[in-house]
Amino acid sequence: GCEEAGGEEEEIRLTLKRYREKRRFDATPEPAPRSKKPSRPRRKAPIFVVQLHHAGRRHDDFRLEVDGALRRWAGPKGPSLRPGEKRLAVEVEDHPLDYADFAGDIPEGHYGAGHVDIFDRGTWEPVGDPADGIRRGKLDFQLDGDHLRGGWKLVRTQLKGGGKPQWLLLKRDDDEARDAEADDLMPESLQRSTRADELKRAARKQAAAR
Ligand code: MN
Repeated sequence: GCEEAGGEEEEIRLTLKRYREKRRFDATPEPAPRSKKPSRPRRKAPIFVVQLHHAGRRHDDFRLEVDGALRRWAGPKGPSLRPGEKRLAVEVEDHPLDYADFAGDIPEGHYGAGHVDIFDRGTWEPVGDPADGIRRGKLDFQLDGDHLRGGWKLVRTQLKGGGKPQWLLLKRDDDEARDAEADDLMPESLQRSTRADELKRAARKQAAAR
């Protein structure tokens, strides 16, 4: 690869800087990145979270804790629990670790405006070194969440080159594989907010077409 080993920390620092620059923390309820390493106690296993983000376009933000930050992949469709069913996951900027606890409304006019819900969270366990896997474009891992469990993988299909790196997220065939979509497993409250958001978006589109 063209990236130097040990460049991850610098990369995370830059990406968190971009995170900060895009937001006004006196106006959005999102967490400000801390200047120091996170103060929460060291857990045995790193965390993962899947946030359902009703921004201009609904997407799922799939986040894995790596080296003290949340690496992030955004997908237009939630993960599938059917083994081998590919879901586009676009690699986007990292977020501070505290973002894993965030659910709420990003106000209109702000970056990422819209409602954020937490769909699932838990711990994850990489097979091998995760930063190395991400650099090489192939990450195998286990999830231990409420909804997403067992073996998963992320495979990069398109390298950076102007656009954002594209990956596919897919379920491995194991005991936790099921004939279901993440969306089928959403609790009623999330289904309600998703429907409400779809209606809002349709109304906005109609108004714009007039
Ligand atoms: Mn998002």
